[in-house]
Amino acid sequence: MSTGQRGRDADRTAELTAALGATRARLARAAELCGRNVNDIELLPITKYFPASDVIILNQLGCLAFGESREQEAANKVDAVRAELPDAPIRWHMVGRIQRNKARAVAGWAHTAHSVDSLRLLRALDRAATEALSAGARSHPLRIYIQISLDGDAGRGGVDVNDQDLVDEICGSANTAAGLEFAGLMGIPPLQSDPDEAFSRLAAERDRVQRDYQHRLELSAGMSGDLESAVKHGSTCVRVGTALMGQRPLTSPAVVTPVTSSSQTSPLPRSAEGSPR
Ligand SMILES: *Cc1c(COP(=O)(O)O)cnc(C)c1O
Repeated sequence: MSTGQRGRDADRTAELTAALGATRARLARAAELCGRNVNDIELLPITKYFPASDVIILNQLGCLAFGESREQEAANKVDAVRAELPDAPIRWHMVGRIQRNKARAVAGWAHTAHSVDSLRLLRALDRAATEALSAGARSHPLRIYIQISLDGDAGRGGVDVNDQDLVDEICGSANTAAGLEFAGLMGIPPLQSDPDEAFSRLAAERDRVQRDYQHRLELSAGMSGDLESAVKHGSTCVRVGTALMGQRPLTSPAVVTPVTSSSQTSPLPRSAEGSPR
C-alpha cells in the first residue's frame, strides 16, 4: 500500500470515528430527553453510495449491521466486505424499495428488509427466503418491516396508513409466512411534512397493530435529519446515512446504467432526508 493510500485510509477512519461518536452522542441525548434507554434503539448506518472500505472501518469501530437501498450495489458490497472479513458477523438490511424480481437476490444477502409494502412482494420474499433456507443459503427467516405510507402517496412506497384492513392483512401474512419474521413497522415522513406529526401517526399505527401480536413490534423510523423526533415517538431503529457518512455522491458506484434524476441525491438536506433513495 502506498503512503498516500495509507494516509487517505487514516483520514477516513478519523472522519468516521468522529461522525460515529457524534451520532451516538446525539442518539443518547435524544433518548435521555424522553426518558428512554438508548440501548433500546438500534443505530443502523446506511452505507449506500459509499464503498465497502467504509463498511470495514465502521465494523472495526463496532457497527455490526448496515443498511443499503439498491440491490445490485448492496450485493457487490456484501461480497467485497465478505472477501475482506469472512468471519465478521455482519447483518445487512435492505432499506430501499424492492422490485419483485429482485426478491431472490435480496433473500440471498439481507438479514432484514425494511420496505415491504404489498402482499405480492411479501409472497415473493417468503418464497425466496424459504428456498434459501432449505438450500442452506440462509440460517434464519428474513426479518421484515411493513412500510407504512403516511400520506397515501403510493408512488413513494408504503401501505396507506388509512387502509387498516390492508395493513392488518399484510402484517398477518408476514407473521405466518414460514420464510419470514415479522419485525414491525417502518415509515418515512412525507416531503414537506412535520416529522413530529408523521412519527406520531406512525407510532399510533404501531400501537394499534401491536394489539394483535404477542411479540414486541419494532419501529424503524428516523434518519439524519429527524432522528430526535423519531426517538421521541418510540423508534427502535434509526437509519442514519448522511450524518455518519457525509453527503452522498451523485451516482452510485456500483450502478452501471445511468441513474435517473429522481434517483439522484439532491444536495439540499431537506429533500435528502425527505425522499431517501
Ligand atoms: C438513504 C436512506 C436513509 C438515510 O438517510 P439520511 O438522511 O442520509 O440519513 C434512511 N432510510 C432510507 C429508507 C434510505 O433510503
